[in-house]
Amino acid sequence: MEEGKGSMYKCGICGLHYNEEKDAEECFKWCSAHDSCNLSIASRSVEALEKRKSTS
Ligand SMILES: [Zn+2]
Repeated sequence: MEEGKGSMYKCGICGLHYNEEKDAEECFKWCSAHDSCNLSIASRSVEALEKRKSTS
């Protein structure tokens, strides 16, 4: 995974990356409140999308 792709937004708590700033914000809010990942948010992360690509 390359760092510093300008168009990605990172959740500072769990470290997942998002293409949409609002998704990263949602994730950050969830992570800070619940101290765990919300699967429906995490499934929109770049990491989850990459994983889905390689698994058919
Ligand atoms: Zn997060």
